Amino acid sequence: MQKCIPFKVNITKKNGRVKKMNNVLSLNKKGFALMYTIEPTLVWVSVIQGSLEALYPFIPFYFTSRILDLLLKGAINNQLIWYIVSALLSSFFVTTVASGLAHTRESLIYRAMDKKEMLLNKKIIHMDYQFVEDTKVQEKLSNIRMNEMTGGIGMFRLFNTTKNFVKNLMTVIIALLLIIPLLRSQSSSQITAINMDSSWIVALFFLSLLVYITLVLFLNKKAFKKYDEYIQGGVYLNNLVGAIFPILRNYNSGKEIRIYNQQSIYSKLFDESLNHSKKTLFGINYVSNQVAIVSTILSYLILSLSYVWVIVKALNGAISPGTVIQYTGALSLLIRELPSFLEELSSLINNSIGLQNLFDFLEMKGNRHEGTLPVEKRLDNEYTLEARNVSFKYPGTDEYVLKDVNITLTVGEKLAIVGMNGSGKTTFIKLLCRLYDPTEGEILLNGIDIRKYDYQEYLRLLSVVFQDFQLYAFQLGENVSASKNMEEERVRDALQKSGFSKRLEKLKDDLNTYLYKEYDENGIEISGGEAQKIAMARAIYKQAPIVILDEPTAALDPLSEFEMYTNFAEVTGNRTTIYISHRLSSCRFCDTIAVFDKGKIIQRGSHKELVQEKDGKYYELWQAQAQYYMKDESGLVQEVAISQ
Ligand code: ADP
Repeated sequence: MQKCIPFKVNITKKNGRVKKMNNVLSLNKKGFALMYTIEPTLVWVSVIQGSLEALYPFIPFYFTSRILDLLLKGAINNQLIWYIVSALLSSFFVTTVASGLAHTRESLIYRAMDKKEMLLNKKIIHMDYQFVEDTKVQEKLSNIRMNEMTGGIGMFRLFNTTKNFVKNLMTVIIALLLIIPLLRSQSSSQITAINMDSSWIVALFFLSLLVYITLVLFLNKKAFKKYDEYIQGGVYLNNLVGAIFPILRNYNSGKEIRIYNQQSIYSKLFDESLNHSKKTLFGINYVSNQVAIVSTILSYLILSLSYVWVIVKALNGAISPGTVIQYTGALSLLIRELPSFLEELSSLINNSIGLQNLFDFLEMKGNRHEGTLPVEKRLDNEYTLEARNVSFKYPGTDEYVLKDVNITLTVGEKLAIVGMNGSGKTTFIKLLCRLYDPTEGEILLNGIDIRKYDYQEYLRLLSVVFQDFQLYAFQLGENVSASKNMEEERVRDALQKSGFSKRLEKLKDDLNTYLYKEYDENGIEISGGEAQKIAMARAIYKQAPIVILDEPTAALDPLSEFEMYTNFAEVTGNRTTIYISHRLSSCRFCDTIAVFDKGKIIQRGSHKELVQEKDGKYYELWQAQAQYYMKDESGLVQEVAISQ
């Protein structure tokens, strides 16, 4: 079973706490900076809405206490009216603006999430290709998604909790400011044996708050640990289920699932996934309930004692009767909101794991050398490619997939590469495209290491059809031109050369027909062979001087394949061509054939030369296929139907 590698906040045990705190602060700082870059209005709206929401509950306490004092004094004057009008207007203003901002904030969060998603997508399409294939990178991405989906951790949490954090922080600050006069007030008489103005009482009050804070923080940490266990334990399952769900929903896979009766495998996986979430969610709930119960009991205890304190102080004449409302209101808000504030604070601290995953991913840097040399533009297409002592291991692996490969492709030469599965043919193509750089040795273009060239310029020289090519749910013309601005005639010409023109004639929307149905319900479904022809047309359209075709006829029917071979010279013209095929008879169009075996080129020559080497690999492969071929009158090898 594949092991998941958790990407935790990087903390060494030594100086652990300080480092952790610094890390938490710097990650949150980076997170807020990113939030501000993505959607600055969201930050402002969150701060304003949070502040107004914090202010709102204090308005009645503050003004009622003033109004009550004036009433008790019998002062029915302008000041009294002013307090009443201010209380009403400020409540009205705060409620209206805050609720207006609440709607704005909700839509801004959606926008910010979309923008953050785009940021991830951009990173994926621009990162070095080696990362795209790297399972650890895929795991990192899966962690980010899982964090967001199950606990709203990462940027999602910042987008959502900033308002609440500001609200709770402001509530605590305003409440503390409002109770300062209570702490400093002096009694004119004492009705109790204990001196209620004593600094010991004030110290006791803050001490009980401290105990309360510590306990709530401790329990929050425990709850988060449980949550983290859940996330980490679920990464592997999530990856698996995430990879399998799209397959299950794809109607093409429905065939195999039924024929091979695979339902039970998937049902077992679903059960496992559901059991995992049930078990851990119960665990999380248990700890969360503990936090809620303990903090409620403690808060009521502290609040009751504080009420007694305030009332006794009022009876002692230290504070006016009206301000009892202000102090009890402020104290109850302070004590009630303190756990929420701490919860928001812990959630920001714990959010560091999500942010760490995100920034690890966004800041991932490739080590591909970025050359700056411009590629010489030659009308005569005089480009020579040479692999010199090229060896290659995939990153993170120990085995050489290519070993000491030497080959030169002269201008206009047509090279066929043949060999068993896994012998390194596609990997060699990936190296030519600089999707990876050789571990040892170099690849030269006109005598200069390809790493030295500007990569985009170098890529312009290559037209490639990969074995696992991909078409997109865009219009046909866009798929061929790989652009929104196609040259229509060039697209038609490419489609005609790749053998797609008959199908094109039948398309109602011509080149504007959508492939597949994701974007357009009138989009067309295409067969594997048709898809291969479109992919081929895309390579032809590019008109690059070097053409690389990896099994370009694998999905074609015999007639289409024959057509492709007939057009082969026209399609590739005087371009330098590399052609990978398992069908050896098709390699006869090529000047040279290189035989790959276990990452090495073990033979090279023309077809005629290689079939003479009776103890060679090529002869062995040829013999294995020859029973399906015969010579026609002109001496050409043709495929024949297998007789009964
Ligand atoms: P061929 O095209 O000749 O069938 P490939 O070049 O695709 O062979 O693969 C050569 C070897 O490299 C195989 O053993 C394959 O498992 C391995 N390989 C291919 N891609 C990767 C990758 N991304 N990471 C690690 N190994 C890989």
